[in-house]
Amino acid sequence: MKINRLGEFELIEQIRRQFAGIPSPGCEGIGDDCAVIPVTESEALVVTTDMLVEDIHFLRDRITPYELGCKSLAVNLSDVAAMGARPCGSFLSVALPVSTDTEWINAFLSGYHSLSETFSVPLLGGDTTASPDRLTISVTAIGRIALTDIKRRSAAQEDDKIFVTGTLGGSAQGLIDIKAGHGDTLLAKMHNNPKPYVNEGIWLGRQSSVHAMTDISDGLASDLLHILQASGCSAEVTIEKIPANSSIKLAVTGGEDYRLLCTVDSRRATEIAENYRREFGEPLYEIGAICKGEPAICWKENGVVATIDWKGFTHF
Ligand code: ADP
Ligand code: MG
Repeated sequence: MKINRLGEFELIEQIRRQFAGIPSPGCEGIGDDCAVIPVTESEALVVTTDMLVEDIHFLRDRITPYELGCKSLAVNLSDVAAMGARPCGSFLSVALPVSTDTEWINAFLSGYHSLSETFSVPLLGGDTTASPDRLTISVTAIGRIALTDIKRRSAAQEDDKIFVTGTLGGSAQGLIDIKAGHGDTLLAKMHNNPKPYVNEGIWLGRQSSVHAMTDISDGLASDLLHILQASGCSAEVTIEKIPANSSIKLAVTGGEDYRLLCTVDSRRATEIAENYRREFGEPLYEIGAICKGEPAICWKENGVVATIDWKGFTHF
């Protein structure tokens, strides 16, 4: 069978099952934004790895090497933030075609360095190899967190309110702009320069009334479903409340916005949103609620159930 018939998430599930028999005492592995490795009785390390492949994740002539350096680290810091953790180190591996200019790699490293400096994340190692053809970048990021603060995808509870930390769909629209040759639009810039919600993630991690959290890398429809599947519940999302800066379809299905998506105890939801705004000067957007039921999203528009079948991004 070809891999595109199996599907990305089915393949990951197959890998998970194959390795499930090997004991991993105290650790939590495949299935969340980061693996969790407890290191003391009160603290854990979280670890994530994400790869960027030329012509799959980026077009080399449509993103500056500086931007790509920032983005490679940003997407990993986003997964650390999604656990509520503080990033404490990264590893950078690059497979470079022999024709790569040293100016290109220097600008790339300069971007990676700048984001590392912004969030005080030291580069602790990596690997450097030649590549026969395309450029590939693989980053591993590590974070620290108190065991009590860890935000898992599996912790959503019935009646929780659902929030996102920023606008949605802009990155997907930006990619459309870039492919159409309009790399200078605001959304194209947004696509190439994702903001990792590092401090926001740490703050949300410390709030006990924030239950489940993930980051939106594959689109709201896909990433909210991951929370629902892990938590065994359903959700109702109000379409007109989605903070879209593109078409609603792209806001629901478009990937790479890297906003945080969290569920909050409904009794504390207003207070959390107010405190968040005071802390960061930006809104936490409430878009819906968690309900009892099979993992599925009920989309509502003006109080009426909207029959849409939009799915997020998958690789195969
Ligand atoms: P994210 O979008 O948050 O980076 P992914 O969808 O890439 O998460 O991965 C979901 C989960 O599957 C994560 O826990 C990740 O570590 C795990 N995973 C993905 N690919 C593999 C693989 N090849 N081997 C083991 N685990 C994997
Ligand atoms: Mg993630």
